[in-house]
Amino acid sequence: MSPSRWFWILMLSLTASPAVGNDGPIPNVVLAVHGGLGESPGVLTKDEERAVIAVIETALRTGRQVLVEKQGSALDAVEAAIRVLEDDPQFNAGKGAVFTSDGRNELDASIMDGRDRKAGAVAGVTTVKNPIRAARAVMEKTRHVLLVSKGAEEFAQAAGLEIVDPSYFRTERRWKELEERRRKEQTQPQSRLDPSGFVPGADPGRHWSTVGAVARDREGHLAAGTSTGGMSYKRYGRVGDSPIIGAGTFADDRTCAVSCTGHGEFFIRWQVASDISAQIEYRQVDVRQAVDTVINGKLKPVKGEGGCIALDREGRFAAATNSDSLWRGWITAEGKVVVKLYPE
Ligand code: ASP
Repeated sequence: MSPSRWFWILMLSLTASPAVGNDGPIPNVVLAVHGGLGESPGVLTKDEERAVIAVIETALRTGRQVLVEKQGSALDAVEAAIRVLEDDPQFNAGKGAVFTSDGRNELDASIMDGRDRKAGAVAGVTTVKNPIRAARAVMEKTRHVLLVSKGAEEFAQAAGLEIVDPSYFRTERRWKELEERRRKEQTQPQSRLDPSGFVPGADPGRHWSTVGAVARDREGHLAAGTSTGGMSYKRYGRVGDSPIIGAGTFADDRTCAVSCTGHGEFFIRWQVASDISAQIEYRQVDVRQAVDTVINGKLKPVKGEGGCIALDREGRFAAATNSDSLWRGWITAEGKVVVKLYPE
């Protein structure tokens, strides 16, 4: 190759790196959470933004209390933080989850322990109040990794977890969105084109708002978890990336803990969470480069919309999104909190 060609390749690679939408690496973080791809900038009022930020802060402080004051494990902190977000109707996880096209709330969640790659997950549950607890119970009380629908619900009940009527998850706001979507489908039946029931750009009021957490405890162990109602107007029975270990969630003490959000079919096909870990393991890049490579370098060109949060073995945090939002926050051992809703 001619020297001038090398010059232009070098120039392109220096200018092409998309810095937009990335945080980090930010040192000394013990816990981080995300609230998914929320509303685009300008959609929420300032009061609505403040309400979202307040819950993210509560989740962070709750998790930090577990880690620092109660000397709990990374797993305990991830579970505690996610439960706060599942119980709040502003997020698409637990109460307030989006509806399937036939009007149900089908919930997915997973959790992973970085010490030994133990993992647990549930998918398509409709009666378990806190799916993240069920995911953890699958990990700790069965020989399996993933339980689905009825089997997962019966297991959760037998494990003593709180069971609710499916109507518990319903909120008027999400129901209105479903009705609006149904009306739209009658005039523009686009979702038939896509077996996931999702057509990019066809979702009125996108409301992905899946939740997730990553934590590092005082012994240096990592954990990650993710919980979601999935994508709005999904076909019933559809399972996204959130309960799939390696796609939506991953943790390994030797590399990092990752929780993802976005268009799940892409995250499954690109194995996003484990690829981020593999970037650190095999390419020895830092955590920010790892998330950027996968979210912006691999997903963006194929229009796989989404983002992630990641925490590495030294407690360095990074986040990336190729969308126009990623609700996220992190907290340090000393209790310093930062929350952001949009890319910078
Ligand atoms: N990844 C989730 C899914 O595809 C949705 C989301 O993150 O908002 O089910």
